[in-house]
Amino acid sequence: MEQLLNQIEGYKNEIETAILPDNEALEAFRIKWLGTKGIVKNLMGEMKNVPNDQKREFGQVMNAFKILAEEKYETAKLLAENEPPANLEDTDWSLPGDPMPLGSRHPISLIRNQIVSIFKRLGFAVSEGPEIEDDWHNFGALNLPEDHPARDMQDTFYVSQNPDWMLRTHTSNVQIREMEKGKLPIRLIMPGRVYRNETISARAHCFFHQVEGLYVAENVSFADLKQTLYFFVKEMFGQDVKVRFRPSYFPFTEPSAEMDISCLICGGTGCNVCKQTGWVEILGCGMVHPNVLQNCGIDPNKYTGFAFGMGIERITMLKYGVKDLRLFSENDLRFLKQFTPAG
Ligand SMILES: [Zn+2]
Repeated sequence: MEQLLNQIEGYKNEIETAILPDNEALEAFRIKWLGTKGIVKNLMGEMKNVPNDQKREFGQVMNAFKILAEEKYETAKLLAENEPPANLEDTDWSLPGDPMPLGSRHPISLIRNQIVSIFKRLGFAVSEGPEIEDDWHNFGALNLPEDHPARDMQDTFYVSQNPDWMLRTHTSNVQIREMEKGKLPIRLIMPGRVYRNETISARAHCFFHQVEGLYVAENVSFADLKQTLYFFVKEMFGQDVKVRFRPSYFPFTEPSAEMDISCLICGGTGCNVCKQTGWVEILGCGMVHPNVLQNCGIDPNKYTGFAFGMGIERITMLKYGVKDLRLFSENDLRFLKQFTPAG
């Protein structure tokens, strides 16, 4: 028995130090130790020669020995199958890992956030509202009664379930909803998605994004409007940008104006982007029409207000020199990756 145990100790040592680099060595190992005529089987056969009172101890030793041989074989086999790199020691473990591709903000979101943060510094809070709107909040309350010709310029998509419902054509519906609440003064900007029934082209789409602003309080004047927008333009486009107001018409403001800035591409000397005029239009604005205030339950004799609205796409195109509006909604990574922040 003692001799047998010594022999097993020797075998154990042999198994533990065995190197099995390839399938050939593995197979030789299997036959030698675990085969039908292998050493493990052979030793098991010795059980009959072991005295009865030592059979239990011998059984335990043999069991452990068998497991050792099997585990050695299985582990080596697994390693061989997974083929660890031959040049493990050449690997530089201090190198950074494979980069995880991170997404980035959409250019429209980048510009929207920038616009919001500029107006926030002037004390404007952000308000949002529904994209599916009823006729009153999208048109009626804004001094655009049915049959008003200005409605033709804002054709949209209607909900067949209810002919009074539509996709909003501007975020002005949020202005109406805020004024209806009756809490004054109001100093808000309203970013959001809007819809128009337009043929899709490089300059028009069936949906786009707007930021509108509304300030209603006592003694608000056109001078306040101009000063607010001057500040915005300088913050957004730089101190050197020139601004001009052109008289215009909107049913919901009186007086109304469109605001141009000097062309960012040519600096005012004339190019294709500004159609050789040196100016590009960026927003519409004006003093809130008394009818609109009245429609929302605000006394136009006591309160005045100004409102403005701009397309985020337009600002983004000017800011980044994007020439085709459709790029914003095509999800082309070659385009979007250009707005990935550095680092
Ligand atoms: Zn130009």
